[in-house]
Amino acid sequence: MNIHEYQAKALLKGFGAPVAAGVPVFSAGEAEAAARSLPGPLWVVKSQIHAGGRGKGRFKEASAGEKGGVRLARSVDEVIEFARQMLGATLVTKQTGQAGKQVNRLYIEDGADIARELYCSLLVDRAVGRVAFVVSTEGGMDIETVAHDTPEKIVTVAIDPEAGVTAADVAAIVSALKLEGAAAKDAETLFPLLYWAFIDKDMSLLEVNPLIVLKDGHLRLLDAKVSFDGNALFRHPDVEALRDLTEEDDKEIEAHKHDLAYVALSGNIGCMVNGAGLAMATMDIIKLYGAEPANFLDVGGGASREKVTAAFKIITADPAVKGILINIFGGIMKCDVIAEGVIAAVREVGLQVPLVVRLEGTNVALGKKIIADSGLDVIAADDLDDAARKIVAAVKGA
Ligand code: ADP
Ligand code: MG
Repeated sequence: MNIHEYQAKALLKGFGAPVAAGVPVFSAGEAEAAARSLPGPLWVVKSQIHAGGRGKGRFKEASAGEKGGVRLARSVDEVIEFARQMLGATLVTKQTGQAGKQVNRLYIEDGADIARELYCSLLVDRAVGRVAFVVSTEGGMDIETVAHDTPEKIVTVAIDPEAGVTAADVAAIVSALKLEGAAAKDAETLFPLLYWAFIDKDMSLLEVNPLIVLKDGHLRLLDAKVSFDGNALFRHPDVEALRDLTEEDDKEIEAHKHDLAYVALSGNIGCMVNGAGLAMATMDIIKLYGAEPANFLDVGGGASREKVTAAFKIITADPAVKGILINIFGGIMKCDVIAEGVIAAVREVGLQVPLVVRLEGTNVALGKKIIADSGLDVIAADDLDDAARKIVAAVKGA
């Protein structure tokens, strides 16, 4: 789950991180009040969408002006003008895709006197099985370019979970970022607290780009992007409350309600599978036969008929889906339950695209019989290979 920049900053401020004063707003009137509550003489009007690259982004509407999604304003009037232009407009950045994202909230922030822009993130480094800091002196711009062109300018410091952030870790980061004076002193508290926030809130990514050195020598978080581990959200109701459903995929929201593990993807073959491993294998084999999955969907080990029906509805509601592959290995989940769920769902929502069903395991004979007797136009498959070949052929032929 992702949150907005202003929410991430408020959260990190709660842990003691240095952030500027700022106010989230939903209208030009609120933007004016926010600007008047801040000291000036520089304000920053920042689009709040769940995507990075806003500063270099472009609005689709000409009325939103030529500047990007993060704008420096030198008067209250200018804050109001930018707020009018940006609110409701669609911002396209490197991370939004061509469709862009509508800007419904702005963050009005106190402008900073920037001496240097640095990069700092925390992530789970799977190679070493630890949470690691990734830092670079080349902040502000897109870090993927730095990683590609000058990888030596990116330094990783993995943290020992027993010890936490040690003085040696801080020293390594300070040296990598070439911090001195007040900034080096700030680092002694900042990096341990960022690590603690990451662990305490079960984050999966914390990215500060840029982390800045102010002209007065101190450190400040100028941008903040935080993602949380969805599987740990149950222990963070405060984080769950920050959810902005307008930023999320409708199908994923619906799946979440039914407790289905669903991820929307860009292909055209809808998949319904039980078990995450089998779901991954199913997506792989679809690709092997030259097509792309429209989603990842694990209905779980003990899904009910209602859950199967809900899953089927989510798949068929996606206009990109040109064929459906149901691949079930009945263990705890019985094949006849799946078969009944599928038939109930097809009767309810109809079937506009080819459907291939592969059943194996507990009660497989009964499951196959239920589908055969239903009179529905279902293509039966013998095994995973056969199923993938059949659905890809059906979709390509259509
Ligand atoms: P994004 O990464 O989505 O483009 P940022 O928050 O990093 O958005 O802002 C882009 C750039 O705008 C920053 O690199 C910085 O140069 C400038 N900027 C952002 N916030 C402020 C601020 N409060 N004061 C001064 N400049 C800012
Ligand atoms: Mg940024």
